[in-house]
Amino acid sequence: MTGQLSYERYTLPFRAPLRTAHGPWVSREGFWLAWKTESGVVRSEAAPIPGFGGMSMAEIQAGLERLGSEPTESDLQLAMQQGGELAFALGSLNSDWRDWVQEGPDYVPVAGLLPAGRAAFERVDSLLELGFRTFKWKVGVGDPRDEQGMLDDLLGAMPDGARVRLDANGGWDRRTAERWLSVCADRPNIEFIEQPCAADAVDLLLGLAGDYPVTLALDEAVLGQADFVRWRDLGWPGVYVIKPALWGNPCDLITTMRETKADVVISSALETRVGARVTLAVAFALGGGEARAAGVGVWPLFVDATYDGPHALPFLKREAVLALADNLAEGSR
Ligand code: MG
Repeated sequence: MTGQLSYERYTLPFRAPLRTAHGPWVSREGFWLAWKTESGVVRSEAAPIPGFGGMSMAEIQAGLERLGSEPTESDLQLAMQQGGELAFALGSLNSDWRDWVQEGPDYVPVAGLLPAGRAAFERVDSLLELGFRTFKWKVGVGDPRDEQGMLDDLLGAMPDGARVRLDANGGWDRRTAERWLSVCADRPNIEFIEQPCAADAVDLLLGLAGDYPVTLALDEAVLGQADFVRWRDLGWPGVYVIKPALWGNPCDLITTMRETKADVVISSALETRVGARVTLAVAFALGGGEARAAGVGVWPLFVDATYDGPHALPFLKREAVLALADNLAEGSR
């Protein structure tokens, strides 16, 4: 892999600020990389999620400066071994992502996103009409009792076979989590509860997973390979929500997940279309059969729609991902 590496920093305002535990998030920041060889230019993306525990923008920039404009193969390998957002971007430059899509299933099912609180009711009807059957609802935002009441109304609005995942973003303490898990225990339409407690509450998460029949998923707790290996070794019995853009080299991610046969949900990290094609290709590589719906229903996301990935539909078709590549080849990002 020899060529010339360049990069630019971008800031793209979201269509609407996103609510996070750290306050409103108004714009996406990241780096676009360009790798120029005799056969053309390939682009990729390194974009951290603030407050999520991955790399900072400064760390990515420092890593890029260390690599310089003509990194050697061993420089690149070393940087990719570190994992994280920069390794994702570097691994993407040399990935067979088109093959992953071509060799994957015809389509990947996608989970519909429901906003926190009562706003979910306004959204759910239109998503059902579009054909969504798996939903993700943000919880841990309002009073737990209010949210538990809303959950029953929400489940009541769903047809048979629909499934709901709850995402607490690590916000519950033990008592709140125990109450929620009791509520969900006899509601079979709950697919899983995502990150009920803080990422570092290892014993608590393992205990909850063992004490209740509800499936639990790790998200914030598993950013990369090292986290994944740690939880595997601890015997984590549930799901892993994996954001390829935060993990590292996407080729390694696919190999690891195929070898371990982990129960995985591939999820967007709110990439621009540059990073989205590789994230989506990973979902195809690990899709098919009984694969869970991917968490990639995030676009449209940006004020400038040029940078959006494919808009949220219940099934993401192979052609929609390959089309992202065609557009890139034409020179737009
Ligand atoms: Mg999550």
